[in-house]
Amino acid sequence: MGCHDSIVWHFDRSGVYSVKSGYRFLVNKARNANAQHPHQSFSISKDVWKSIWSLDMQPKIKVFMWKVMLNALPSKENLYRRGITLDFNCPICQREVKSIEHILFWCDHSKVAWFAGPCSYKPNPMGFRSVVQWWESVVHHFSNDQKILAAIAFSC
Ligand SMILES: [Zn+2]
Repeated sequence: MGCHDSIVWHFDRSGVYSVKSGYRFLVNKARNANAQHPHQSFSISKDVWKSIWSLDMQPKIKVFMWKVMLNALPSKENLYRRGITLDFNCPICQREVKSIEHILFWCDHSKVAWFAGPCSYKPNPMGFRSVVQWWESVVHHFSNDQKILAAIAFSC
């Protein structure tokens, strides 16, 4: 009947691939994968919240940590996901998507700040995949004073 096959990008209403729709697809795919593994997902345990709110430190740092754990800060990744910006690369290193994990741990400038801080900490990319997992490891492996230091360094 004269019909021709054509290639259609299934993940956008227009059927045309764009970097934006490809990125959205990958973000949704990652979120769905995380939802299948509750420990790595956005369902945060009560222990995490308890450990943050019980820290003996300024409320503004606790609120900052709360926002970080909920991925509620205006990172470029979040702004992109909400359609506020089209640029999601880190403005400092220009190499990676500016996610909360990149801002806090993986950007070269963040690594320098961590290492120069009171803990001389070197984030291990194999040690955790999310900021929630990082905090859980801090809670399980460090003393209360070390947790406070980590939280202060985290908020700087
Ligand atoms: Zn960067």
